[in-house]
Amino acid sequence: MKILVTNDDGIRAPGIAFLAEAAARLGSVLVIAPKEQQSAMSHRITLDRSMRLERCSTFSLKGVEAYSLDGTPADCVRAAFLGAFDEKPDLVLSGINEGANCGFDIQYSATVGAAMEALLYGVPALCFSQERGPVGEVCREYLFRILEDLAGRRLPRNQIWNVNFPCCPLRECRGILYDRKPCQTAFFDDRYVRKEQADGSWEIGIDSDYVMEAEEGTDIRAILDGYISVGIVTNTVLSADN
Ligand code: MN
Repeated sequence: MKILVTNDDGIRAPGIAFLAEAAARLGSVLVIAPKEQQSAMSHRITLDRSMRLERCSTFSLKGVEAYSLDGTPADCVRAAFLGAFDEKPDLVLSGINEGANCGFDIQYSATVGAAMEALLYGVPALCFSQERGPVGEVCREYLFRILEDLAGRRLPRNQIWNVNFPCCPLRECRGILYDRKPCQTAFFDDRYVRKEQADGSWEIGIDSDYVMEAEEGTDIRAILDGYISVGIVTNTVLSADN
């Protein structure tokens, strides 16, 4: 099996190295990741310029070819399927994102955007994120187990698996909850704060509070309670059966 691994935090983020290492136990791995941070780019692609694809010699995982692309995560997946490489992937993995992709944040996520792009080529995709910070204890303990399990389960062609790890210590992790629904809020309660400038314009910046409550059965509730959340996200453009 040929596995493409990408992310939205960029090729230098620790999460992608850890995911690629786990993926290498299941098949041959190709890493194509954005050169720079691309979080919250959703499904954006680059059409107004050509891009630079560079072999990344600093990505030190034996037997793994790694490339950086000065584009978005969806661009990385398109490059893999639309001719920049000889062989097409059979599975696409995205992550491990630094920060949860739960609730409304799924809509902005370019970790999710990359997985949605893979579905357009009829290839299954999974994304992985962790609540705050890089790879933690829970993620280290459970990632391979969950990856192996979910990669073997078939979803309709318009759906991806969305896995979120809590950032609590391993001893506080209460296990895995499946079938989690996206919470009908974001993880952060954002407000724009406005400051008037000398020229009469306003500078607006985000001020946010961490959400501490969420409805039962949702992805955010699972994370807040110390569970790993496994959910499904549907690409609404695709039909389930073609
Ligand atoms: Mn990110």
